[in-house]
Amino acid sequence: MSTATPQKTIRLSEKASTVKDSITMAITALAAQMTAEGTKVLSFSAGEPDFDTPQNIKQAGINAIKAGKTKYTAASGIIELKKAVCKKLKQDTGLTYGPENIVITCGAKHAIYNAFMAVLNPGDEVLIPTPYWVSYPDQAKLVGAIPVLIETTDKAEFKITPDQLEKAITPKTRLLILNSPSNPTGSIYTQAELEDLAEIILKYQIMVLSDEIYEKLIYDGEKHISIATLSPRLKALTLLVDGVAKSHSMTGWRIGYIAAEAPIAKAMGQIQSHTTSNPTTPAQWAALEALEGPQATVQTMKKEFDTRRKIMVESLNAIPGITCLLPKGAFYTFPNISSCYGKKSASGLITDSVTFCANLLKEEHVACVPGSGFGADNHIRLSYATSLNDIKEGIKKIARFVSSLA
Ligand SMILES: *Cc1c(COP(=O)(O)O)cnc(C)c1O
Repeated sequence: MSTATPQKTIRLSEKASTVKDSITMAITALAAQMTAEGTKVLSFSAGEPDFDTPQNIKQAGINAIKAGKTKYTAASGIIELKKAVCKKLKQDTGLTYGPENIVITCGAKHAIYNAFMAVLNPGDEVLIPTPYWVSYPDQAKLVGAIPVLIETTDKAEFKITPDQLEKAITPKTRLLILNSPSNPTGSIYTQAELEDLAEIILKYQIMVLSDEIYEKLIYDGEKHISIATLSPRLKALTLLVDGVAKSHSMTGWRIGYIAAEAPIAKAMGQIQSHTTSNPTTPAQWAALEALEGPQATVQTMKKEFDTRRKIMVESLNAIPGITCLLPKGAFYTFPNISSCYGKKSASGLITDSVTFCANLLKEEHVACVPGSGFGADNHIRLSYATSLNDIKEGIKKIARFVSSLA
């Protein structure tokens, strides 16, 4: 007779075991529970625009369904959309790519994962500047690679220096991740800063995954520079990731893309052909309209974000004990709240970004995301993809919470 208990037959793979629930999940769960119990929670945790997908884009999706564009396409995406991506990249950056360089993916997130699958071996090191977008380290681990963090602070505007980069490189280094504009900090790299990093990148011949998903959301007349534009040699080392989720309020449609050297794009297409197959067909046609149709809604959204950004940063900096850089892109602020550590609020001692957010949520019903989820425990992330009224009301509550600390 077998003595095996049913539990013993459930065994997760080593890879699955390396991926953890994000620390920030506890706060999200508590906020959801409070809302379900009837408490009004002001949330600054949104990771997506609070604008609707523009009507012309929705209509293109509807038209595609009505026209029967509801079957498989090529695994790497429809040629029309690949050509539109090439045209967009040419117009916006001057870079020349052909359809053989493009893979349409199930969101930018999936483009990054497929790229890791295509270029990383187990044991390869991936350089990830902190604060980082939450999925980079876990995606690296999922393919057996090793995330190596390069720490930055608000004093350095959350940007790595060439010196830091060079020190982090080992014979196992394969890839550097750059995310400009950054989620969570909103920092952007200038042309000069990228040129300095490029010297090191070329010297050691490492590849760069450039996540440019927020390139349309840049303020104060600053310009987005893709590292791929610095030279043909840099372009050959760059995996350029972008998508329509943030620029066109299309997070749920799940369309992203990557531009890379043809053999890499081909490998990614093959990987995709055995995993997801093509991204959802009508969504690809809607994304085509997003790239080729009128762009006025992008500007409207950006203008609104800009207004909220300034008000949020100004009112955060008016709170004694909080300092916040003016983000240059994306739709997040990333204030430093570490002067509150070691102090007590009504519901207990604040020791880190998680306890700060938990106590703030319990006492003032305001939800923020702890910086520890982004590898920066001195900070919290506030999204301004929410109404101006909620921003004004929410920051007042944060001010009251911080002034109550003893
Ligand atoms: C939102 C986001 C993504 C993922 O975008 P999808 O197209 O929705 O998968 C990738 N990188 C960063 C930095 C993001 O904030």
